[in-house]
Amino acid sequence: MSNTEGSEKVIAGISDENWQAVKVLVVDDDDRVQEQFKMYFTDLGIDNYQFECSAAAAMSNMVQQQHSYDLVVTDLNMPNVDGITFMRFLSKIEYSGALMIISGEDRRLLNSVVQLGNAHNLNIIGAMQKPFDRTELRQMFGKMQLSADKLAFVSADQSLTEDEIQQGLSRGNPELYFQPKVAVKTMSVPSFEALARWRAEDGKILGPHLFIPVAEQSALINDLTDQVFIKSVEQVAQWHGQGFMFAVAVNFSMNSLERISLPDTLLAICSDYKVSPENITIEITETCIMNQEAVALDVITRLHLKGFRLSIDDFGTGYSSIEKLNRLPFSEIKIDRAFVDGAANSYSSRAILESSIAMGKKMGISIVSEGVETEQDFELLKELGADYVQGALFSNPIPADSVLQWVENWNKSSH
Ligand SMILES: [Mg+2]
Repeated sequence: MSNTEGSEKVIAGISDENWQAVKVLVVDDDDRVQEQFKMYFTDLGIDNYQFECSAAAAMSNMVQQQHSYDLVVTDLNMPNVDGITFMRFLSKIEYSGALMIISGEDRRLLNSVVQLGNAHNLNIIGAMQKPFDRTELRQMFGKMQLSADKLAFVSADQSLTEDEIQQGLSRGNPELYFQPKVAVKTMSVPSFEALARWRAEDGKILGPHLFIPVAEQSALINDLTDQVFIKSVEQVAQWHGQGFMFAVAVNFSMNSLERISLPDTLLAICSDYKVSPENITIEITETCIMNQEAVALDVITRLHLKGFRLSIDDFGTGYSSIEKLNRLPFSEIKIDRAFVDGAANSYSSRAILESSIAMGKKMGISIVSEGVETEQDFELLKELGADYVQGALFSNPIPADSVLQWVENWNKSSH
């Protein structure tokens, strides 16, 4: 289970008034960079921002402000205290907002800094090479959307507690929603991504940002993932029994992949329900894969051997190349929504889509684009030869018991 549901607007993207609520700290001693951010913030409607010229000043600022920023942007090369030391500080004070790195250093160094940020458990949304332009800034802030929304919700204290999650798990939570994956060539729907929702005491349905981050902090994430997996397989068995041969994709987090027994457990569940593992895709976030812990690699390889399909989720967020990933037994790549949403109007997003799709084709890996919300973006994806699309343009996630009705309507309408 992972909380990165790229193809889904968990909450609508950051609206204008939401940007106004975002509080940003920029740490950079370069005046031009400060000017650039100032202009960008004005455009976005962010007026709650601050600049610091050194990491030392930023550190004392954050201690005084009780580190209440939603986003911290920092340079790496600064006099006295450098950006790496600053990141260590952020991790130590358990800064939970988003972090963005900007630097004149080369791409390889920036990649290692991102890895380091992940290792520190920081919510790092990316590293940008200086000089950068508006498009790059826009893309980086696009990645921030969900994080900021999550933060807004988490800070509103609506997150479930560990106890609530534990109790809920024994009462039939989580509930599953399914988002269709549409085949571009035929416009048919061969499969769905299973997404976890939580039914609160008052009957309201809560999004994943309110329980998955909390579960991920504890061993509860394993119970949660297991329950989502079991319910998904059960649902596939039911659909197959009714003559609908759908496949389902389930999200797994790095924590789950550290269980050496996972492939056997999952296979046993499949045989209990007489569902072939070929009908189940395991989605693994790219940033997880790139850590390449020996146990995770062992588990990933054995999942493949047992017949499960493997998919790289949120592709493009981990700065890996498809060639590198091709050494692992993946059969599908899901391009992160940050590169799909608005791609028709962004030269750099288009370039990323184009090269990802071209390389995926060469390597026989199918390409799913998530976060498709407009006809223009869909037209572009068709033109570039994307295999599958997922997103609000086709359907938002659907409650399990409404899926067949949706399919009937979809098959009736012309596409
Ligand atoms: Mg996913």
